[in-house]
Amino acid sequence: MNNINISPIGIVQNSFNKPTSHHEIKSHQSIVVIDDKYSEALLNIECCNYIDIVFFFHQSEAGSLSGKIYNGETRGVFASRSPKRPNLIGITTVKLIKKEGNKLFVLGLDAINQSPVIDIKCCDTSFLEMANEKNEIHCSILKAEPRIEIINLIANNNTEQLLLKAGQLHGHFCPGLAMGVKAATFAMNKLKAKSDGMEDLLAITETNNCFADGVQFVTGCSFGNNSLIFKDLGKTAFTLTFRNGKGIRICSKHESQQIIKEQFPDFNKYYQQVVVEQNHCPEIVNTFKKVSLQRAFETLNIDFDSLFTVQYVESEIPSYAKILESVICSKCGESVMKSRTNTINNNFICYSCSGSNTYILNGNGIYESKR
Ligand SMILES: [Zn+2]
Ligand SMILES: [Zn+2]
Repeated sequence: MNNINISPIGIVQNSFNKPTSHHEIKSHQSIVVIDDKYSEALLNIECCNYIDIVFFFHQSEAGSLSGKIYNGETRGVFASRSPKRPNLIGITTVKLIKKEGNKLFVLGLDAINQSPVIDIKCCDTSFLEMANEKNEIHCSILKAEPRIEIINLIANNNTEQLLLKAGQLHGHFCPGLAMGVKAATFAMNKLKAKSDGMEDLLAITETNNCFADGVQFVTGCSFGNNSLIFKDLGKTAFTLTFRNGKGIRICSKHESQQIIKEQFPDFNKYYQQVVVEQNHCPEIVNTFKKVSLQRAFETLNIDFDSLFTVQYVESEIPSYAKILESVICSKCGESVMKSRTNTINNNFICYSCSGSNTYILNGNGIYESKR
């Protein structure tokens, strides 16, 4: 195999000039200083709480291919983390504390002072998720209370983590989603509400834009559990209410749009291009997503009262969703709710087959339409 040439991208700075216990080094903060020519590669690195640092053991040298590890067991070097290896490369997952210019302040790094840094990667935690899925205790907690993680985050007002999770539903991060998360977290805490998707807590959304997904995720009120009511009023507003009709309505102020426009002029520029003018050029869409991600998390820090008004309200609440009889459409043979059929000569015909008008909810709102 050919040799590989690798050039450092930066250097480690800390107070350990000689190799010592890696536990000792890890417990102190280190600074990773990145070369100016790679500063662009640090864009949005703050989104990664944990990063992998790939570095060079510059004071080590290759040794035998096996040896004793910390517990006395003999292992091959590829089954250990020994710095004495054929290629003197170390990889350590660290916590990213903060970024200042080209300096990354990290905790948990076991590289000594002046170690050349070869690469940095956002930490891949998917293996941890797999481990969690298999973790019986974790599973049994989630089976007993599926929303426990969300409930705890709401109680701690941890809108940042809630937004991160809401992104899994929404598919991207944007100020609208962040506003939904912020408003819904506020309402859940004000009403001391818990949601188990059994129609005792309901959310009434007055819009079907990004805001509504923040509301759905945090409140747990969704179309699927009949706890989300849509009123096509075109307002970035929602009401969280108990079955007795008593609840809280949060409505975005007209000035909130101005605040977002003024505080995030770059977001507004790309929003105009991608969303309003429907420019689907991949480069512009990607830049929009990056800007949108950053601005979404910054939206969480905007003063609540400058974005929203809050009212205590009484709403009309529908009865629990009825389970209606299903019949077979005599034309297509599919099973269909009886209430959504026409009866012709004692046969049930579904709306699709009879061409009857039905209601459709899409990005344009709700309206009556043929099929
Ligand atoms: Zn969105
Ligand atoms: Zn049919």
